[in-house]
This record gives sequence, C-alpha cells and structure tokens, in this order.
Amino acid sequence: MSDREGNFPEAHELRWNPLIGTWIIVAGHRKKRPWRPEESGKPFCPFCPGAPETKKFGSNWDVIVLPNRFPALTLDAPEPVLSKNSLFKTSRAIGICEVVVETPKHEGDLCDLSLEHMVKVINAYTREYERLGKLDFISYIAVFRNKGKEIGVSLTHPHSQIYALPFIPPRIKRELDMFRKHYEEKGNCLLGEIIKAEIKENKRIIYENNDVLVILPYYAMWPYEIHIYLKRHAQSLLDLDKDEKRSLADALRIVTGTYNSLFDRDMPYIMAFHQAPVNGDDYSYYHFHVEFYQPYRERDKLKYAAGIEWGYWTFTYDGVPESKAEELRRACRKAYKKYGGFIGRCF
Ligand SMILES: [Zn+2]
Ligand SMILES: [Zn+2]
Ligand SMILES: [Zn+2]
Repeated sequence: MSDREGNFPEAHELRWNPLIGTWIIVAGHRKKRPWRPEESGKPFCPFCPGAPETKKFGSNWDVIVLPNRFPALTLDAPEPVLSKNSLFKTSRAIGICEVVVETPKHEGDLCDLSLEHMVKVINAYTREYERLGKLDFISYIAVFRNKGKEIGVSLTHPHSQIYALPFIPPRIKRELDMFRKHYEEKGNCLLGEIIKAEIKENKRIIYENNDVLVILPYYAMWPYEIHIYLKRHAQSLLDLDKDEKRSLADALRIVTGTYNSLFDRDMPYIMAFHQAPVNGDDYSYYHFHVEFYQPYRERDKLKYAAGIEWGYWTFTYDGVPESKAEELRRACRKAYKKYGGFIGRCF
C-alpha cells in the first residue's frame, strides 16, 4: 500500500515479465546508490587501499573481492508478497553481488595491468565462479565489467562485478538453445565451427595467441563489438588450464588496449563473460567465450540502442563489419607496441 504521497515501501523481489518470459530484479533499495561518492565535499573512492571497505586487506594486495554495497540480489531477500492475481508472478531476489577490485591503483584499465597481474584477476573470477556456483539456489554466475561514464559507471577505480543469479539470464538461455540445436543437428560445436570459418576467411580476426582468437564477429551487433573465443572446446573458467588462463589474460589486455588506442583516448565498454550455468545440468555442448560491446560508432558519435534495437531487439549495424575490423586491427597493432608484454600476434 502506498502512503498519501505515493511512496511505496521498498520492494525487493523478482518479478516475471510474461510478455517476454524473463525475470526483472526489482531493487527499491538501490535507488540510494551514490553517483560518484563524496566524503566531506571531496571525491572519495571506496576501493582505494585504506578505505573502510578495503582496510582489512591492508595495503599489500593485488586483487580483492568485496561484497557489493548496493546489491540487487541478497541472501536475506524478503519472501515476496504474492499478488492475488496469478499473472503477476514474483520470486525471492536471492543471490550474491560482488565487486572484484582489480588493482590498488585508482586509475587505468585492464591493459595497464601486467600479464601476471591480469592472471590474478582471472583466478579471482574462477574462484568465485566455483565457490558461488556450489550454492544450490544459484543457477548462473554473471561476470562482467562496465567502464565509462557513457554507460553510467559511477566509480573510476578499475573493477568488475559478479552477480550470482537464481535463474539463467535470457541471453544465455537463447545461446544455450542455439548451441544445443546445432549440436543435435550437426553433431559438433557451433562456436567450434565458427572459429574454423573465421580462420579460413581471415577478415575479422584482430589478434591471436596459442589458445584464443580475438574477433569482430561476422554477426556483430555493435560497431566495434569484439569477442574472445577459446580455441579449445570448454564450458567455463573452471575448465581452463594455466596456459589458457594466461592466454585469456593476454587477450583481455589486448582488447582493452585496442579500444583505448582506437581513437587515442580512454574508451567506455561493457565486458561480459559467457559461461555455462551452474545449476547442475549438462551443458557440454556450450562453448565459453567473452563478449565486449563498445558504445561508439565513430570517434564522436555514440550508437544508441533506440527504437528498432530496444523496441524490437533488431540491430542495425552502422558501417561494414569487415572495415571496422580493419580499424580494430590497426588499433591493435598500436596497442601491442604501447602497452607491451603480449604473447600473441596482431593481424
Ligand atoms: Zn580508488
Ligand atoms: Zn566448442
Ligand atoms: Zn555469447
């Protein structure tokens, strides 16, 4: 019930959208989230060494995992208030939201970390995937990174996020369906076949090392979308050996370095790890990969997900993927020299 001003008690629950068959996380408490926090008028960083949240780790750390201070999902989420109408389905917003602080340094990007340091970040992702994945109420571990004010990132200190979700998110569900369908029809792996075809065409590969390919995919939705494909068939970080983790770390450095070299300025992007769900079912047909979306379509022009994209989930690609791939190849060669320490080759 609302009060006379129309203020509803803070809701924290999952609500089912029956039109598209997906859960929405309603997190009324998150509206108090600060935009670029300040303490006594000065900008204040909660992730720098010595801040209240990081204090217990001392000053001698490389990578730390913290609970998200404004979690969309929590372990003590209230039992949802059931609606009298069965169409309005709700469920508990149970889950865990964490922040991976990737370095004690306040500024920078993944390309500014050394290869060895980047491996430590991947090891942190892997540990959390394993630990959170064992919880019986968790179905999916989303590992992602948002960077830049263009996509609403309020904290500049390098960090990524982990959401342990009580459901499989719709985008992953769709990928699983496509991978399974392909496997049933052809008897092989969808992404394995795509990798073979991309290598054969060699028009969109940007970078390669022993274990991964960095590609602007044939079917990119965003102008400078980049995917990292593991060459070997594997479902999650847990399946990667030491060398593959190092190769993945190398790829994450070169992709972020490539973005920051593209227009010679710090670029915003979204990074999303696509791994198999952790609900105990068999996903051996799925193939682990990482996707990057970058909101610019030209130096000073943002690409918006607007009417046709957001209203219909139909993407228009401004430009030609193969020529954008050329631009990324040039930026990659620049990044290779600028940041150094890479173990693969540019195209
Ligand atoms: Zn900081
Ligand atoms: Zn595969
Ligand atoms: Zn994917």
